[in-house]
Amino acid sequence: MDKACHIIVTGLVQGVGFRPFVYRIALRCNLSGWVRNTNENVEIFVQGPQYLIEDFINELNSDPPAASHIHNIITSYTEPIELQGFQIRRSENTSERITEISPDIAVCDDCLEDMRVQHNRVSYPFVNCTNCGPRFTIISDLPYDRQNTSMKVFPMCNSCRKEYEDVNDRRFHAQPVACSVCGPQYTLYQGSTRIAEIELIVASVADFIEKGGILAVKGLGGYHLACDATNEAVINRLRLMKNREGKPLAVMFRNIETIKKYAEINILEENSLLSQRRPIVLLRSWGEIQLAQSVSVGLNTIGAMLPYLPFHHLLFSKLNIPAIVLTSGNISDEPIIIDDREAIDTFLPKTGAILVHNREIVNRADDSVVKIINDSERVFRRSRGYAPSPIILNIDSSNILATGAELVNTFCIGNGRQAIISQYIGDLQNAETTSFYLETLNKFQHLFRMKPEVIATDLHPDYFVTRFAETIANSGTLIKIQHHHAHIVSCMAEHHLDEPILGVAMDGTGFGTDGNTWGAEFLYCDLAAFTRETHFDYLPLPGGDKGIDEPWRMAVSYLYRIFGEEVVNLNIPFIDKIGKDKIDIIMNMIRSGTNCPLVSSAGRLFDAVSALLCLCHYSTFSSEAPIRLESIIELGCSDLYPFTLIETVNFDSTFTGILADINKNIKNEVISAKFHNTIIAVIYEVIIKMQQRHPCNKVVLSGGTFQNKYLLEGTEMMLRRKGFEVFSHHLIPTNDGGISLGQLTIAAKRRELGLLT
Ligand code: ZN
Ligand code: ZN
Ligand code: FE
Repeated sequence: MDKACHIIVTGLVQGVGFRPFVYRIALRCNLSGWVRNTNENVEIFVQGPQYLIEDFINELNSDPPAASHIHNIITSYTEPIELQGFQIRRSENTSERITEISPDIAVCDDCLEDMRVQHNRVSYPFVNCTNCGPRFTIISDLPYDRQNTSMKVFPMCNSCRKEYEDVNDRRFHAQPVACSVCGPQYTLYQGSTRIAEIELIVASVADFIEKGGILAVKGLGGYHLACDATNEAVINRLRLMKNREGKPLAVMFRNIETIKKYAEINILEENSLLSQRRPIVLLRSWGEIQLAQSVSVGLNTIGAMLPYLPFHHLLFSKLNIPAIVLTSGNISDEPIIIDDREAIDTFLPKTGAILVHNREIVNRADDSVVKIINDSERVFRRSRGYAPSPIILNIDSSNILATGAELVNTFCIGNGRQAIISQYIGDLQNAETTSFYLETLNKFQHLFRMKPEVIATDLHPDYFVTRFAETIANSGTLIKIQHHHAHIVSCMAEHHLDEPILGVAMDGTGFGTDGNTWGAEFLYCDLAAFTRETHFDYLPLPGGDKGIDEPWRMAVSYLYRIFGEEVVNLNIPFIDKIGKDKIDIIMNMIRSGTNCPLVSSAGRLFDAVSALLCLCHYSTFSSEAPIRLESIIELGCSDLYPFTLIETVNFDSTFTGILADINKNIKNEVISAKFHNTIIAVIYEVIIKMQQRHPCNKVVLSGGTFQNKYLLEGTEMMLRRKGFEVFSHHLIPTNDGGISLGQLTIAAKRRELGLLT
């Protein structure tokens, strides 16, 4: 007796080879019926013996296409109808809601094989199939269809069309399908020559890089600058060219075996490196054989990635060096360049060589950055390969726009229960980045058919995002959200928590409800509201933003609080290195309260300790001082310093302990370990106290300081050992890149509770 079943599959199921996959298993199970894309999901109707339908559903669940991600499968059995065979039906536009847009996917092994053997794709650098290739970076509209991508200007040749239309072909409905006859092409501009033949391009480029050249090269989500990662001189030139003094540079290695020679990697790090998302993975270097020193600016980490474009593979087949620096093609903190004209004008006079191609980049995407902490991938920068996959919420977030934070910005829009976070935008501190922000926001509103009715933003009165939110607020309700509440809720949203929890925000800076600058906050909170239970003591930040760029100022602030005018008489290297005159100036500022905002920030405390140990007095990139402090920790040391916990957390005795250790010539490595252990102990002690007031077993950790692996691992382990359930970030950044999700979720919850006025 035959049965029939109607099946709805939701999730990332379009543009990833899902319908042909359904077709193939339906044939294998000998079922009749059909499959089609709708705007909301994939819809399937199958009919046949019940046990075969069950087999079919099992297979649907167990082995979906690599690039897909199923959220939900809903089945309902009905009566069989008159039906023959199995068909892929035309797409239907059933509503205004749309499904997900796939992130870009690294070239697959089958396509790499085609590049060796398939006559029209030998060495063809735009090869792709339903399992791989560009997605988000080429999409200008939905539904996902070639006409709505930057492939629309390349009509398919007969051979590509045949593959595109053949349901049994790996390229069935692969929208960017292309070959050397019909698809995009690279052109190399080198000096006054212009090369269009790919094999010649690869040979010239490999030679150029090996001889110490810097190449500007168009990639998937923007231009990169590439050079030999073992050549110190060229990297110095690259830094000058980019106007980037200190920040570590990302490195693309030939293959995983080569990475293992330079860095210590575990299976999870290997999985992330090899995943189809191909992020930059922050690894710990062995420190024996090394790349050029200045790649990692003296830190013990390497930002490593593997080839993800067909062109990268071609390049390494000709290169004789183990790795290239591959860094965003931009100047200073501006967005990565995507426009060909701008790239040629900006880079060609400086580099002498630029590799361009004629497929337009519609959406900018930087390389994503992840780190494995406590056996899990943590995303620090969420862009290529990750965006714009939604985070699924427990609450309706329709038509909410969350503007995000001012630094390492992303914004977030609500689409039903999906929170769609933009790709990494950057620091909204120059005109180029703010226009990238506005332009991307327009694109997202169009792509996802979204009109903001509720606008959630930060409390800070002077942020670009808050001023922007105010200008568009006439179209809806504006709500301002405290930065650290947003941090904690961003982590709760990721874990579907909707209840009061104990929140720990260890962070740089964010505007507080009392007008001071917050950044080490213990919040008892739920999705809608919070109370500030305690925080690190307020200290003056001499010079405001200048005090962030110059960590030594914060060290003086902590010392002044303990020793007053006697600071200059302390017999430690720090005082000699900075000089009594400069310290006097800072002490004057503190005494008179001139430009000394009060801060309670974990980031600034780490700054102070790092500066006191003379690891970093002037910061050349964001969080340099804390990163250098973490980088030297002596593992296996369990000692800690005293601290005082009354109304707030006071570190006077911690600093006295550090000074005593400095005077005893204890190694910086040990002092750093003891300091980190102290912070872990502080968090634990505060949580115990909070739990006495609020019986609750769930602890949520967020804020940029938790990018610190030692701190996060130690805090998680300590709390778990005492029976707490601990939640930290995995899918979205613990830094300000996650703030937009928190803002969106808070706004959604307040709306659900009827708290929006
Ligand atoms: Zn492929
Ligand atoms: Zn073709
Ligand atoms: Fe923050």
